Amino acid sequence: MGAIDDVKQRLDIVQVVSESVKLQKAGRNYKAVCPFHSEKDPSFFVFPDKQSWHCFGACGTGGDIFSFIMKKEGVDFSQALRLLANKAGVQLVNEATPQRQAQNKERELLVEVNETAAAYFHHILLNSSAAETAKSYITRRGLSIETVKDFQVGYAPEGWDTLKQYLTGKGYPETELLNTGLLVERESKTNYDRFRNRLMFPIRNIQGKVTGFGGRALDDSLPKYLNSPQTAAFDKSGSLYGIERAKASIKDKSQAIIVEGYVDVLVAHQYGYRNVVASMGTAMTDKQLTILKGLTRNLILALDADAAGEEAVSRSGEMIDKMLPVPPSFYGWVKYEDAYNAEVRIMILPSGKDPDEVIIENSSQWQEMITNARPMVDFIFERAIAKIDQTSAREKSLVVERLMPLLAEMKDPVRQGHYLERLARLLKIDEHFITDTLRKFKAAERRRKGKTTLNSFTPATITMASSSPLEQYCLALLFQYPELKSESTELSPEHFENTENRELFTKWSNCNDIAKIKNGLDIVLQEHLNNLLSRAFPSIITDNESVRHETMEDCAVRLQERRLRNLESQNQELLAVEAEIGGTAAQLAKLEEQGLEITRQLQKVFIRQHHRRRQVKSDVQ
Ligand SMILES: [Zn+2]
Repeated sequence: MGAIDDVKQRLDIVQVVSESVKLQKAGRNYKAVCPFHSEKDPSFFVFPDKQSWHCFGACGTGGDIFSFIMKKEGVDFSQALRLLANKAGVQLVNEATPQRQAQNKERELLVEVNETAAAYFHHILLNSSAAETAKSYITRRGLSIETVKDFQVGYAPEGWDTLKQYLTGKGYPETELLNTGLLVERESKTNYDRFRNRLMFPIRNIQGKVTGFGGRALDDSLPKYLNSPQTAAFDKSGSLYGIERAKASIKDKSQAIIVEGYVDVLVAHQYGYRNVVASMGTAMTDKQLTILKGLTRNLILALDADAAGEEAVSRSGEMIDKMLPVPPSFYGWVKYEDAYNAEVRIMILPSGKDPDEVIIENSSQWQEMITNARPMVDFIFERAIAKIDQTSAREKSLVVERLMPLLAEMKDPVRQGHYLERLARLLKIDEHFITDTLRKFKAAERRRKGKTTLNSFTPATITMASSSPLEQYCLALLFQYPELKSESTELSPEHFENTENRELFTKWSNCNDIAKIKNGLDIVLQEHLNNLLSRAFPSIITDNESVRHETMEDCAVRLQERRLRNLESQNQELLAVEAEIGGTAAQLAKLEEQGLEITRQLQKVFIRQHHRRRQVKSDVQ
């Protein structure tokens, strides 16, 4: 979802609106005489925190920056996107500018050179007597010749210009070889082969194109693992080793296992575990997750015992600080789980062992470890608690304190509730102590954030406003399971705050045929729709029709509740502002009446929700 979010992050709605509408400050927000209907008293509001606008007068409508431009300029979404992208300096994808065409061409050429080099390295490994050390290393690691061929593993011979001679002989200019990073330039402007006497692993993108290499030293050279540098084709942080061969199996099993090393991937695939990829030694990045989330929402991280902090640590008070902090990457995982309804599980390898060793020595143990992988948060809890002295009040309270940021990160109240209860049970204390601590922690967080963002424009708040996981989840369900349309009758385009989602919902309300809708879409919206259509759901949803219906009903209720709550809080802010600046009695009365109406509607939603829950319960009993 690149361009749309990009535009939203770079533009401030207050600035854009104020170019055509005269805004006055009203508390934290802005108001104006509505540009869309005629009125004397301002009822058009802009909310910088949410990057949204709303007219409380005759229009009774609102939205984000896109819907504002659409209405103001009388254009459709794709024209509004172009206008705003231009303003924001965002390059829209698939637009064949000469610059972009040149970039694509450059990338294709780099891939071509890499593929030629990969074939050369592979040929040397299989056929040259110079590759004996490499071959015996391969045998020692238990790799079969088929696996080596499947992944086109190769050998970069010793010597400073073996590859260079070969590739220039094929007609590739030296500048191109320097661009791929296969050659390195000296200060004297002469150059030499980057990879020498190394076992070579071609790294491919999801389409199977060779974008770069990883090379393992076969002598004492350092570094032990050397990668291609960042190029127009290769981005280490956006690569997953083995993804091109693993993707089908990941989708099939709806599960991806993430290991660290190249050989781990090779061995796993060799033994039939084909849903395994490597993060290439780095911590997982957003780019890698974006690739995976198109395939599955179920991730298993294979951690070695040391990384997971499983090694024995003496249990003294001073050590708690070292033991407890959850690895920072785990907060990212919790956020990821929340945003994409994903599940991340952890499997711990036996101490001192790599995945490939486990698989070769005892394949059934590996399978068992997969089956027994623990949900990440459970894992963190259990680990933290196992390390403290349960009879010490101080250690217990320290654990609670340390785990707060993790709990606060969970945006789904049901999930948060589940884990609050679990933590209380594990620590054998009353749940309300933990709930209390969490409330205090959140308040302190808000104060801290409020202070730092008071005067500055923070992209962070806007990012939150620009991506709505709930809206996207709901649409993905509706589009993938058309039979759920009956559960969406209470929803209207107004329930979708993001224009891109609103557009798709509107189109779909008028026409059931997704293929038809897709054909008529702007290329950027098409990409958005494709993302929604390829979103993977857990098996509880894919295999169970009644769960699916319930989930959809739940989404619809949550969207309605969210809209009403937004209206409610906007209304209350307006009332406060009007009261402060001495608004007319009629205006105040009107706002109060609107507030009451919102409350009535909210109550209706709650009552429905309550009935439904009881219904579900009695169905189960
Ligand atoms: Zn209006």
